[in-house]
Amino acid sequence: MHRKAENFSSWYSEVLLKAELIDYYDISGCYILRPWAFSMWEVVQQDLDKRIKSMGVKNCYFPLFVSEGALNAEKEHVEGFTPEVAWVTRSGSSNLTSPIAIRPTSETVIYPYMSKWIRSHRDLPLKINQWCNVIRWEFKHPTPFLRTREFLWQEGHTAHEKEEAARAEVLEVLDMYADVYKDLLAVPVIKGEKTRREKFAGADYTMSTEAFIPATGRGIQAATSHGLGQNFAKIFKIEFENESSQKCQVWQNCWGFTTRSLGIMIMLHGDDQGLVIPPRVAPVQVVLIPIMQEDCNAEQMKSDLVRMEEELKSRSVRTVIDDSSSRTPGWKYNHWEMKGVPLRLEYGPKDMQAGSVRLVRRDNRAKFDVSVEQLGEQVEKILQDIQQSLYESALRVQEEQTRKVTGLEEFMEAIGKGMMAVAPSCNREACEEAVEQETDAMLGSLKALCIPSQQDEVAEGTRCFACDQPATCHILWGKSY
Ligand SMILES: [Zn+2]
Repeated sequence: MHRKAENFSSWYSEVLLKAELIDYYDISGCYILRPWAFSMWEVVQQDLDKRIKSMGVKNCYFPLFVSEGALNAEKEHVEGFTPEVAWVTRSGSSNLTSPIAIRPTSETVIYPYMSKWIRSHRDLPLKINQWCNVIRWEFKHPTPFLRTREFLWQEGHTAHEKEEAARAEVLEVLDMYADVYKDLLAVPVIKGEKTRREKFAGADYTMSTEAFIPATGRGIQAATSHGLGQNFAKIFKIEFENESSQKCQVWQNCWGFTTRSLGIMIMLHGDDQGLVIPPRVAPVQVVLIPIMQEDCNAEQMKSDLVRMEEELKSRSVRTVIDDSSSRTPGWKYNHWEMKGVPLRLEYGPKDMQAGSVRLVRRDNRAKFDVSVEQLGEQVEKILQDIQQSLYESALRVQEEQTRKVTGLEEFMEAIGKGMMAVAPSCNREACEEAVEQETDAMLGSLKALCIPSQQDEVAEGTRCFACDQPATCHILWGKSY
């Protein structure tokens, strides 16, 4: 097994394969999500789906294909996506009369129908969501979960009567995404607005949550919520009659959360023994392993474990008993550690006599002897504790690795050390582009990650760290995926 700190990319591929998360496929940039990964996605999906529905959003499903005319309707949007769009040009041996695109995202699929369905202010707000796959035929180096040609996500699309309601929803969704990262994946994220240069093609503005991978010193966009303004409403004629019978255009948002989230969690929490899964998303939270010895009562041991498992299941703890006789306990320990199961329960002859079990935490290897009567209660407590301490230690590292800088030299030093930098900035596109170009040879893939929502006020007279013009805000910069 490669060491995470020494050879990160080999470590990552090895974890993905050995923990049985993915398999490689014979089309570059496409990966198979094996049950261990897909069941984590299902946990995230079920939780997020509930939260989305509680906002009054309804699920639906639109087709995978987009006509050329619809795709090209919004100029800035289509320019943003053109290089990545995959096309179907043939069926069997005959060419199609006009090629059909595969959705890279679904604004142009959905909005012609919003235009049809919305007539009056009584039809608003219209809030829909779909869980689906999208295809973006990228040529950058693919990375499983983080940059793949096909990925899974939810995309929410909403239309509002008033601008204020639309703006409020963009922030509500951003908070929801940050909460899912925190509560389920134990990943701390930074909320903020994208710069003009980094915003979603066709949007008025983009809010994002940004995560940080300390092992590579790179920031990564974790989920986004876009205020589309009336840009698409104008093009697709999404109009309604207000209460005074005037024709108005709707205010729209779209927002998405993808399988990339799993990659961020894996990169952040994994260690040299393999995956470390936060309990809330772990497909198995506790693995129960009997330690058989020649003179022990195997029947009794098994029935004890079944009873313990029932107790845990009654508390909605996800469990597996690994009692196969073809593997040694040591082999099983390594196997389930590699797969990242948060808690291991060992049960041997001595434990039987004492009426207790041994629990071993995956994250910090701490061991506890716990009486069988207290098992359920203790397991619940330890799982909660693991969830919290994974989040807290990730947050601590993220804070340590974020440096406030004022000038370019300090900035370069921080980024060169694999940190993120918060710098006072003029927030002009030309300045941002110049910083990227000037640092490209030395640092590569440097980006303005976001304008953090929580930030110090810019004191009067503060200059931009890069161009010396007056600063208007602080921008979070980092190397990026
Ligand atoms: Zn500047």
